Amino acid sequence: MTKEVKVRFAPSPTGYLHVGGARTALFNWLYARKYGGKFLLRIEDTDQERSSAEALQAILDGLKWLGLDWDEEMIFQSKRVELYRRYCQNLLQEGKAYYCYCSPERLEEKRRQAQKEKRPWKYDGTCRALSDKERERLERDGIPRVIRFRVPEGKTIFQDLVHGEVVFENDTIGDFVILRSDGHPVYQMAAVVDDALTGISLVLRGDDHLSNTPKQLMLYEALGFSAPRFAHVPQILGPDRKRLSKRHGAKSLTEYKMEGYLPEAVVNFLALLGWSPGDNREKMTIDELIDAFSIEGISKKSAIFDERKLEWLNGQYLRERSSKDLFKDVVETLRTHGLLGEEIDDQSRERVLTTIDLLKERVRKLTDFVDLGSYFFQDPVAYEEKGKRKHWADPAVAVRLQAVADELSNLDGFAVDEIEKAVRNLAGRLKIGAGELIHPIRLALSGRTFGPGLFELMEVLGKETVVRRLRKAIDYVKAQKEPNDISVKAS
Ligand code: GLU
Repeated sequence: MTKEVKVRFAPSPTGYLHVGGARTALFNWLYARKYGGKFLLRIEDTDQERSSAEALQAILDGLKWLGLDWDEEMIFQSKRVELYRRYCQNLLQEGKAYYCYCSPERLEEKRRQAQKEKRPWKYDGTCRALSDKERERLERDGIPRVIRFRVPEGKTIFQDLVHGEVVFENDTIGDFVILRSDGHPVYQMAAVVDDALTGISLVLRGDDHLSNTPKQLMLYEALGFSAPRFAHVPQILGPDRKRLSKRHGAKSLTEYKMEGYLPEAVVNFLALLGWSPGDNREKMTIDELIDAFSIEGISKKSAIFDERKLEWLNGQYLRERSSKDLFKDVVETLRTHGLLGEEIDDQSRERVLTTIDLLKERVRKLTDFVDLGSYFFQDPVAYEEKGKRKHWADPAVAVRLQAVADELSNLDGFAVDEIEKAVRNLAGRLKIGAGELIHPIRLALSGRTFGPGLFELMEVLGKETVVRRLRKAIDYVKAQKEPNDISVKAS
């Protein structure tokens, strides 16, 4: 009988959910959804010192944000310590494990000695065959003890679904600890007991765990459990083929969210890290990913993290969403950056929607609405240097901007065409090209030299804001000119 499809994501809550972990979670989730199986979430928190509630929350938030929902109740290993101990005791009783009294200091010394002599180190089996008498003495002396698994002779061979046949010589693996002296199980033991008891059919995880697999297979065998299948996903490297790090733009999921990435873009991007649909599709919806996902599509070669691809995908997904759809996310981003308050009246609502319409083609991240569009919500705090040199150097600028401000103040309506007509007429009267007004005005209103259509921008800002910003710019231009004028006169 074939086992029900059941996979799991088993993070240790010792840090944030990063790219590698999120990809493992996603692959498992896609696999479960594709084959109508179950995706379990297990929190490997037996190391209480390194685990934290914040890290757990960040993992849960990250999974929810990506839309990776799990089936059945989440398992916390910290609540199952008794269970793991019981299985360790069984192994002890059957002679498949033994108490070891070697002190960490003594072991460390031996390890160092081996290193010095360039010998590979493994536990030397000091306590493997202690007599009852020796054990009693050590117990009487209150020497702390761990439980070690007695590694059998021979080879451990398994078929990895990504890497093919993998062979480990057992004698390269020393008898390993399964229960620490503080009564807590090690990862290998707890993971095997849980994977077996929850009926996991496939363990799909990063290939940094490949070397754990022979140990786990030995435990399955010793405990009388049938083993799941294994698939180890290649690691993710930076474009320089070095270990992925912040330097390459790799971040925690929380950071991606804060930076304005959309979850659907991140999911799409993560899916392509070490997996491909077998054709050259890159932009794929979640349903397309589920449909195309297969273990065969996972590459043996390392995946390369390309931040630009993530940005590109994000831009594609942003453009696809309607302004209404983006509204909530953009509002949240603007709020986070202090450009919008809690209350949103009709006017701000309109302004946000228009901002989205005007900038959508150019943004790659939600935060670009802040970087490219802050002036929709806030008077500019600085003016581009290049723009000042180019558009505000003419001594007539202050007078011209004053004329624009006067002209616009007198308008009854403030719609695009009325504004445009007023500005063009004024340029005609001043006998200058419209550009000689448009560029200085844009700089005054936005602090920048480029942006969306100026007259559209002016309509969105409204008369009051436009006139206020023009006046501020006039004051600024005048203040800049005065010291020069003085120096000219003085010379
Ligand atoms: N807690 C382990 C980790 O976060 C899980 C390894 C596994 O999937 O077996 O790397």
